[in-house]
Amino acid sequence: MSARLEVRQADLTKLEVDAIVNAANSALLGGGGVDGAIHRAAGPELLEECRTLRGCATGEAKITRGYRLPARHVIHTVGPIWRGGAQREPELLAACYRNSLALAGEHRLRSLAFPCISTGVYRFPPPLAAEIAVATVRAEVAQLPELELVVFCCFLPTDYELYQRLLTTDAA
Ligand code: ADP
Repeated sequence: MSARLEVRQADLTKLEVDAIVNAANSALLGGGGVDGAIHRAAGPELLEECRTLRGCATGEAKITRGYRLPARHVIHTVGPIWRGGAQREPELLAACYRNSLALAGEHRLRSLAFPCISTGVYRFPPPLAAEIAVATVRAEVAQLPELELVVFCCFLPTDYELYQRLLTTDAA
């Protein structure tokens, strides 16, 4: 059976899941938004481990421990900066979800929570980002038998509503 997909309006750094996904930047050395919140909550050991990773390309993902977070691991992925949509932004955003899920599979994780990648400082339009997130996760989870739960963790009520609507629509 495929993993359950759930939407929650919550602070990602508080979730007790096997891994939370960080919407990082390519240096992997911390930043603002959800990235800053994750590093603050995880403590300085997270930054130390991130320094050893030597960055991450857009669309790719790397895994670390979670240190002081309730989550055991952090999967760091780098979303595309929205530049109008003709620079492979949708494809790169889908790759973030796909590559994060692939790492979760490799590490046999049972639960995973995503933020709304790229929709903050990187300005990806939230409705399109939510569609890509849900479609990509729906397509991938069937191949990950150990994964039981995927949470779409929304900070904003408007994002929560978008995901709520998409998740109550039957998978196409
Ligand atoms: P990006 O640079 O990929 O756009 P941001 O961190 O600026 O990343 O924003 C991504 C999303 O994360 C936004 O929807 C923002 O509201 C949300 N966000 C910010 N802090 C948190 C948090 N603590 N938990 C969950 N989501 C958060």
